[in-house]
Amino acid sequence: MAKGAAFDVLVIGSGASGLAAAVSAGRAGARVAVATKGSIQSCNSAKAQGGIQAAVGEDDSPEVHADDVWRSSHETANRELVEVLTSEAPSAIHWLEELGVEFTKENGGYRLARCGGASRKRLLQVGDRTGHAITKALREAAESSPNITFFPNAPLQELAGAWEARCGEHTIHASTVVLAAGGRCYAEAAERGELSTNHPGATGEATRVALDLGAESRDLDALQYHPNGGAWPPTMQGYSIPETTRAYGAVLLNAEEEEFTDSLGPRDVVAQAIVDEVAKGKGVETPDGRPAVWLDTTRISAHDAELSLPYMVRRYRAGGIDPLAEKIMTYPVLHYQNGGLVIDRDAQTTVEGLYACGEIAGGTHGRNRMMGNSLLECVVFGRRAGRAAARH
Ligand SMILES: Cc1cc2nc3c(=O)[nH]c(=O)nc-3n(C[C@H](O)[C@H](O)[C@H](O)COP(=O)(O)OP(=O)(O)OC[C@H]3O[C@@H](n4cnc5c(N)ncnc54)[C@H](O)[C@@H]3O)c2cc1C
Repeated sequence: MAKGAAFDVLVIGSGASGLAAAVSAGRAGARVAVATKGSIQSCNSAKAQGGIQAAVGEDDSPEVHADDVWRSSHETANRELVEVLTSEAPSAIHWLEELGVEFTKENGGYRLARCGGASRKRLLQVGDRTGHAITKALREAAESSPNITFFPNAPLQELAGAWEARCGEHTIHASTVVLAAGGRCYAEAAERGELSTNHPGATGEATRVALDLGAESRDLDALQYHPNGGAWPPTMQGYSIPETTRAYGAVLLNAEEEEFTDSLGPRDVVAQAIVDEVAKGKGVETPDGRPAVWLDTTRISAHDAELSLPYMVRRYRAGGIDPLAEKIMTYPVLHYQNGGLVIDRDAQTTVEGLYACGEIAGGTHGRNRMMGNSLLECVVFGRRAGRAAARH
């Protein structure tokens, strides 16, 4: 037990944003502690499948990317943060590659998909286990750094001024703190009696600690439903069917097999269209009585499935359904906390010396996040938070 251990930077959470912050702070010469609630591997980031956005295509640019974010957020995002996000996206991808992430390639370039709300093909993927690949590379970089000490099973419970943190049975002192503890959709879904895509650690108490210290927040009420939660078979309930299924040709159909919405619209629009279609009595019902519509995955080519959806296909086949041979049932599921703690360009909250990055922070996505921009936010603002916290 590290009673009174002293560090330059304390990072709370070991998802993509916390690991990116820790690696960056460590490289800037800081002594870094990473305290996390469960095991080091436990987080939402590792569950991310679909991909990460970056304007690397010839017809694309950070400005076009920023416009897509702005439009998808219904003009509620913080434009300054959006510009940081999209302009640093290509260098974030190269940084991840230097750490060992191998993005799927084709025809001598990246294999890019168009995700909901995007005007260009911009989504880089590592098969359909992108989050796993990114967190693995970041974790290996952090674990091999002599500057970084991990405290697993050490949930943040209390934080007192500049800074003394009670994390499980440890008391950790640090000059600056980076909150990277993710969102609260697991707890929120449990309260609503709904399914969630999130890991059980996504319960939001680190946000509460920051609010109690006087940190400002924004859009905390704006929670995102993933349009395509798995509805059947039972083993797939709460699973987020990658949005790349729709990027590679799957479409949403009602009970009469009619397309009722643009399957590549912004997330909130597509999710609402499904809920409305079911409310009109045009949905289908799972064998255990849950509402659903069809996702016609038979339109995905075997080639695209093999390259970009192997994990999803394997999981459905293990549950007794071949998604390339029959349609699957889907319904929106609670997925993501759009809002969070207010931050500046360096990811500092409104409390001096207290930083926040990843899903716990607000502003970058406004009230509606585009797919693929969360992993990007973790890397871009995780790096910024780590660097700024190290030199604070
Ligand atoms: C199934 C799924 C699929 C997704 N697919 C994509 C995708 O394809 N592309 C994309 O961009 N985004 C995707 N997302 C969203 C994205 O993965 C997450 O929003 C993002 O990775 C969050 O990263 P984070 O570092 O902020 O939080 P997390 O990865 O959730 O990490 C939070 C960490 O903080 C720890 N923690 C929590 N509370 C405390 C506490 N009190 N004290 C200490 N530690 C604490 C947790 O244990 C965890 O280690 C997906 C999310 C899910 C759930």
